[in-house]
Amino acid sequence: MSKRIILLIIASILGLIALSLIQGYLIKNTYTLKKDAFISIAEEAINGIDDYETPLDSIDDAWSDTFIGEVDKFSVKAISKEQLLERLQTITDSLNPGFLREYHKIITKQKLGYNLKYHRTLQTIILTDSAKSKIIFKADSQKPFTLFGNVFRNNPDLYIGSSVWQTERSFSKEIKGIERNVSYQLYLKSSKEMNIDDLNIILFNQMRGLLLLSLFIFVFVIGVLYYSIKNLITQKKIADVKTDFINNITHEFKTPLATLSLATKILKKQKEIHREATTITTIDTIERQNVRLQKLVDQVLDNSLGYQEIVLQKEVVLVQDYFSTLINDFQLSLKEDSVNLNTTISNASTKISLDKFYMATAVLNILENAVKYGGSLINILVSVAKDELEVHIEDNGIGMPKKHLKDVFEKFYRIANQQIHDVKGLGLGLYYSSQIIKVHNGVILLESEKGKGSTFIIKIPFS
Ligand code: ADP
Repeated sequence: MSKRIILLIIASILGLIALSLIQGYLIKNTYTLKKDAFISIAEEAINGIDDYETPLDSIDDAWSDTFIGEVDKFSVKAISKEQLLERLQTITDSLNPGFLREYHKIITKQKLGYNLKYHRTLQTIILTDSAKSKIIFKADSQKPFTLFGNVFRNNPDLYIGSSVWQTERSFSKEIKGIERNVSYQLYLKSSKEMNIDDLNIILFNQMRGLLLLSLFIFVFVIGVLYYSIKNLITQKKIADVKTDFINNITHEFKTPLATLSLATKILKKQKEIHREATTITTIDTIERQNVRLQKLVDQVLDNSLGYQEIVLQKEVVLVQDYFSTLINDFQLSLKEDSVNLNTTISNASTKISLDKFYMATAVLNILENAVKYGGSLINILVSVAKDELEVHIEDNGIGMPKKHLKDVFEKFYRIANQQIHDVKGLGLGLYYSSQIIKVHNGVILLESEKGKGSTFIIKIPFS
């Protein structure tokens, strides 16, 4: 991959990360805003109840009247601090069910659509008489005390506010036979808290549309980015392959053109001196090179055909006859004696329907490559497996690095830096073979390793 593409990928990934961070920040902000708005509505609902609902007020009054009686007893030491708190607990326990019933009725009327819990917890009780101030209860140092409402200690509470009840008492009481004046000041502070069941789920549901839209946009951007980069890489590959092809074809044209121009020069001279024999050999050379050029052009034109453009003329052939003739002809065409061909054809009597010409081209391209790319021993095995014909062509040539295996069937693809120098080719042979096999509804497979030879397997179904 080129440096430019790698940089582009890195920049896109960084851009995506930045985009997701901004998106995350915006979503978090929206969540906070929604939560605040939600809580303030809930708070309003509760404040409304607390301030104006008479049934709750009467419960509150009953509670304070009973409690103050107990504080009176404490102030004249008739009961201890612990007993006072125990009694406060008893009063609260007896009044709280009524409070909850009323609260539930009122909150249901508001049709909030969610379960809003509320309670008042005791913060401080201080009693001050002429002598001193006595702390009866302090939330920081004592176990929490719920005055009214639901108990929801395990969930995070949302603080609403605090309320203070301050009262002065003065009465006469007979203590140890003497009538005495007792006076004190009571300070009671409680805090109001609320709790909403499944607050996060409710908020998530409210934000569902936004979240889904964000997710969709995110996936869409990743998709578009992936597609663009993939396209870019493919385009780059195609451009590289095209450049290679132009280099190859120019290289191939060079020799015949040089020979042709030399031959023409010779012919020009010959005209003047009239030497018959040289003229004939020169014309032969021109013709030969012309044929070579023609062949090259034909090769490009024919071997570039895609499987959609190949029209088969199938005939039923005997596997044994067809392949043995094909391989014999190939052997005869080999100039090198150094190539050893081993052929095994099993199931001699099997017949198959194929296009004789095209199939021969497909197989010959592979056989020619086996020789071209260093093979000195070629094993050919033609066999019939289940309902298909299999042709294995194995060579002991230079082999191919694994990373190229899926590309060598691409049009114009050639492996650069081969150990064998100057092997001519246009990168069309394997492409054309694969197209011919494809149009026969077959498959072509390749196993190869650098330095260890290659094996091509062609499978053609009988039907
Ligand atoms: P070419 O005209 O280059 O031979 P092909 O399409 O026939 O084009 O092959 C594509 C590439 O695959 C070749 O350039 C070569 O690098 C590699 N190749 C094909 N057959 C063999 C083989 N039998 N052994 C090693 N490499 C091969």
